[in-house]
Amino acid sequence: MSEKCVFCEIAHGRIPSIRVYEDADFIAFMDINPISEGHLLLVTRGHYPKTTDVPDAILDKALTLAKKLAAATLLSVGREDFNLVVNNGPLAGQLVKHWHMHIIPRRSKDELPLKQGAPADLTRLPFVAERVRENLR
Ligand code: 5GP
Ligand code: ZN
Repeated sequence: MSEKCVFCEIAHGRIPSIRVYEDADFIAFMDINPISEGHLLLVTRGHYPKTTDVPDAILDKALTLAKKLAAATLLSVGREDFNLVVNNGPLAGQLVKHWHMHIIPRRSKDELPLKQGAPADLTRLPFVAERVRENLR
């Protein structure tokens, strides 16, 4: 546990949060600066900075739980579309260095501006793909 981590403080009940779910491995609560109504955070109880740090046994449960939370949230706010977002590291926009998944109901494309990608450089793409395949071995 990191002393200065706000999500550790929330997980241990030292900072209040509006919780919707908790079990041995996760808590879920309303984001304090929601992108849209119903914006939730699914957070590991333990302090793991990035997805690559979370033990498989815990991470394996995250998507199933996110699915359940998203379904309940969408029903609650009368929406159908949503994003599941995990920012990993500062360059990826992660401000709180404790693993969390955003569950964000969507009404309009403007609520979550994502930059459009540029067309791939087809001279590089196969080489990057080959390096990924190598690093998977
Ligand atoms: P990140 O950019 O790290 O993926 O997102 C962190 C999220 O945590 C932000 O959406 C922010 O609004 C939310 N957040 C930060 N501090 C608190 C807090 O003390 N309580 C709650 N409920 N949400 C927080
Ligand atoms: Zn933490």
